[in-house]
Amino acid sequence: MSDKIFDIGIIGYGPVGATLSGLLSSLGLSVVVIDKNKGVSPTARAINTDSEQLRTFNFLNITTEVIANSRKLKKVHFTDSEFNPYSTIDIPEKDKLGWPPTLLFYQPELETIIRSNNLNYKNLKILENAEAVNIQNTNPVQIDIKNNRKDSTVYCKYLVGCDGANSFVRKYIKAKLIDFGFDQDWIVIDAHTTKQIDISKDEAKQICDPNRLKTYVPGRRNHKRFEFKLLKGETKKDFSNKKIWELLSPWINKNNSKIERAVVYKFHACIADKWRDKNIFIAGDAAHQMPPFLGAGMGTGIRDAFNLAWKIYLIIKGMAEENLLETYQQEREPHANWTIQQAKLIGQMMEQFSYREKGEKYVPSSKGYGEVFPHLTKGYYGDPSDGLIATPFCRFDLDHSGKDSDEYFGWNFGLISKKKLPKEINLILKKMNIKVLSVNDNKLKNYFKEANYLLIRPDKYLFSRSKTNSDLKKALSELENQFSLIT
Ligand SMILES: Cc1cc2nc3c(=O)[nH]c(=O)nc-3n(C[C@H](O)[C@H](O)[C@H](O)COP(=O)(O)OP(=O)(O)OC[C@H]3O[C@@H](n4cnc5c(N)ncnc54)[C@H](O)[C@@H]3O)c2cc1C
Repeated sequence: MSDKIFDIGIIGYGPVGATLSGLLSSLGLSVVVIDKNKGVSPTARAINTDSEQLRTFNFLNITTEVIANSRKLKKVHFTDSEFNPYSTIDIPEKDKLGWPPTLLFYQPELETIIRSNNLNYKNLKILENAEAVNIQNTNPVQIDIKNNRKDSTVYCKYLVGCDGANSFVRKYIKAKLIDFGFDQDWIVIDAHTTKQIDISKDEAKQICDPNRLKTYVPGRRNHKRFEFKLLKGETKKDFSNKKIWELLSPWINKNNSKIERAVVYKFHACIADKWRDKNIFIAGDAAHQMPPFLGAGMGTGIRDAFNLAWKIYLIIKGMAEENLLETYQQEREPHANWTIQQAKLIGQMMEQFSYREKGEKYVPSSKGYGEVFPHLTKGYYGDPSDGLIATPFCRFDLDHSGKDSDEYFGWNFGLISKKKLPKEINLILKKMNIKVLSVNDNKLKNYFKEANYLLIRPDKYLFSRSKTNSDLKKALSELENQFSLIT
């Protein structure tokens, strides 16, 4: 066995594996990431991100760069075949996390930003052209790697499979995919305008044309994304160059744009029934896949990475029991499940509008869950009945330091206090390494309704709200029971 046992091994250096590598490395853990390919994937699959991902990226100090290379979306329209809106979603400039709720990026560029930052971590080993061909769930976990020059083996305490839709790791842990019964073929076209043209720059359109469903999304800078549903019996062969330009003709033409790629994808919806086997986990597309109507596939994977990173860190540092890792699937699966249902529902809403134009009726089979991402429904937090606990806590600027609240708390548990804290509680907080912020900002009015103290998890989910000192002591002792924060 080689001498080196990495804290974490990650198979797959796509956006999810790259983000997880960065997060764990930034926490000082030793990480090895393995990818069978070299360099970022050239295909611009994902195009849309959200504020929770921007929060995660800010832990890698790359959010400013991501925003600078993205486009803010202002509206999404569901329209008839003539582009007249049936329904419009207005997107605010910022949400409670203080970031744009929707942002359009170019995936190869985003992955390059994440990977460039990862080069700063000396404790991160990146192995490319390295295919994981065999794993053993031993202690440590063994990964056998095939490389065209030399085969090798690496060892790690925990392994995370971020190896995409055909995940080798998912198959190894014998997880089954639960199918949501949504399979549609769409042709996805990425184009770049070469001249200034009159084309909607900050409004996306879901065109519910009864003759063919279509999507237009204005990407960052001159990138434009078009998607067209294949009709019954159509295959990729039916899409000649001429046909593709015909489809694009309401927006762009050969004189003002060039096509980067036109690929037929099978949009699919499924989720793994098992996300962990002892010291092996799966995350990202390895654990779930969804149609891109909500633009949330990659985002769901980035949420997995954020959820897993701090838990693995606390366990490796001896500050939490192994059973904390059970909360990974408990917390993430219902959320991913909901997101898949929503993505499927948006596809079905497009069908529904298109049937309306034909004068026919169509009833979506997918459940509607409202527009707001759901709370954690199972896992580790206090009583969520107030609708605030177990949801992402807001982010706000701190007047005195120039930092924002996320930067102030970093990866620590945090306490926000409206009242002066008694000495004995201050002492406990210090021993537990909980960062304290005394603030009574108007932005926190809702949170401080019938509460004086707010406990925040490292992933910035609200853990508890307490009114009295004794309530707070109880919440702290619950926290200490679960985590051994006292060092
Ligand atoms: C048309 C389209 C539009 C989309 N739009 C959006 C969107 O707007 N927003 C959004 O959030 N998501 C979107 N998605 C989904 C998004 O692209 C994926 O969810 C995301 O890329 C998945 O990232 P990942 O890191 O989990 O997997 P991948 O990007 O698939 O990366 C997996 C990596 O694992 C490597 N690998 C696999 N097996 C091995 C092995 N045995 N050994 C070593 N390496 C291995 C691969 O080489 C690859 O680099 C879209 C998808 C499509 C197809």
